[in-house]
Amino acid sequence: MSIVIGLDIGTSGTKAIAMDDSGALLASALEEYPLHSPKPGWAQQDPADWERAAFAALARLATEVPIHEVKGIGLSGQMHGSVFLGANQEVLHPAILWCDQRTAEQCDAITGKVGEARLIEMVSNPALTGFTAPKILWLRDHEPAIYEKVRKVLLPKDYIRLRLTGEFATDVADASGTLLFDVKRRNWHGELMSLLGIDTDFMPPSFEGPEITGTLSAKAAGRTGLPAGIPVVAGAGDCAAGGIGTGVVRGGVLSMSLGTSGVVFAFADEVKTDPRGRVHTFCHAVPGKWHMMGVVLSAGGALQWFRDTLCDAECTVARNTGKDPYEYITAAAAQAPAGAEGLTFLPYLTGERTPHKDPFAKGAFIGLSLRHGKAHMARAVLEGVAFAMRDSLEIIRELGVPVHEARATGGGGRSPLWRKILADMGRVPMVTLNVDEGAAYGAAILAGVAGGLYGTVEEACDAIIHETGRERHDDITAKVYDAWFAEYQAAYQSLAPGFRRAAKLL
Ligand code: ADP
Repeated sequence: MSIVIGLDIGTSGTKAIAMDDSGALLASALEEYPLHSPKPGWAQQDPADWERAAFAALARLATEVPIHEVKGIGLSGQMHGSVFLGANQEVLHPAILWCDQRTAEQCDAITGKVGEARLIEMVSNPALTGFTAPKILWLRDHEPAIYEKVRKVLLPKDYIRLRLTGEFATDVADASGTLLFDVKRRNWHGELMSLLGIDTDFMPPSFEGPEITGTLSAKAAGRTGLPAGIPVVAGAGDCAAGGIGTGVVRGGVLSMSLGTSGVVFAFADEVKTDPRGRVHTFCHAVPGKWHMMGVVLSAGGALQWFRDTLCDAECTVARNTGKDPYEYITAAAAQAPAGAEGLTFLPYLTGERTPHKDPFAKGAFIGLSLRHGKAHMARAVLEGVAFAMRDSLEIIRELGVPVHEARATGGGGRSPLWRKILADMGRVPMVTLNVDEGAAYGAAILAGVAGGLYGTVEEACDAIIHETGRERHDDITAKVYDAWFAEYQAAYQSLAPGFRRAAKLL
């Protein structure tokens, strides 16, 4: 038996999994840590917490699997974060995370200096507050004494790589989210870095996902109980690693993830860029391929908000019956017809990324009448999130990326009703899979390819990821949604100026 390990440095915790060559999960471990928000809009973590969690999770796995069969470790992690290191590899500042909003000024400065069209031409994406480059400029602007000492800037999982192997390295997918990476040519964009005055030595060498970047050091082996010398592969940022973990490795396949946020993640054979920067274009962890991605900030999060604010009764019944409140809420939603008799929900409870890039956007129920009850509202929430996912899907299609099949993942993907709504909304079959282990699983697959368990990433996914169900669309419902989708889009356009005014009042 051969074993590979996937290690995912997430936002709420670090997850380690061990799987065998058939893809079967042998063991998993989760270690949590806090997120710090010392000012509104700030989101930071201490890299020492990730390190503690990663080593503890690996140590747990080491007690549960035959360690001498471990052929490799693949890394994955939250994207866009910045770890600032000094000359002795010491952490100089808390890591600034993907969801931190402090860099609006630096984003404007980058866009002003380079020009939005040229920026998108250079790095395939516009400047967004979560990306790494504006964080580097923020440190230069606000903490010049610390900035003076910076010698390296690492993404979260690459800091853990340094601690595991002693090597500086990253992968092309994670690097794509820094705004400093030439996504088309799959290398750092030296010209942009000098234009922005960012030292090119800050960034580590980049590798394709299944390439080996080093081996487990004797010191790390001592701390984890794993043998020294195990290859550590480049891996991928968590989006691309999640894409591998759901087998999105061929043209025509995409995934729709309904976690707290929603992600539409499409495979792309060729690099395609949205000139308006509404969807991201990043390198994929499949060597030489790309992916496009739209992000809905409140997807499952919107349903969770609905449950927590308006569904006390369902929660009580669920507690008494030992069931999940979401089952009662989605059962109620199923009682209302498609289109919820004209009730539309905008799910922008935390602003919106794709397609609006609008931090001021807000949620709304539109079209309420005496006819509407809670079932309609529940259905409108599910449909509103599906409308938001369709926004991304339409842009991806518009750019000429083929879409034949969508794979449902995340907590919301467990709901047959939500899958059916998504199928009808996007006129695309929604497929369920035998696995839903996410990014850690994808990272383990990449390690498996490097370790010779599989020939290629595609071969690995074909061997271990299988369809377990398929929800198809029906034309009549799809037509109902076409009509309401137009209303949904129009509703945001007419409300957006009011959202901005309200933000000022607040
Ligand atoms: P996270 O992004 O936090 O990892 P998950 O992938 O676990 O989130 O998804 C959590 C979300 O999934 C919840 O907020 C909820 O909206 C949704 N969800 C979970 N179970 C169900 C269900 N049975 N039916 C519908 N939605 C569900």
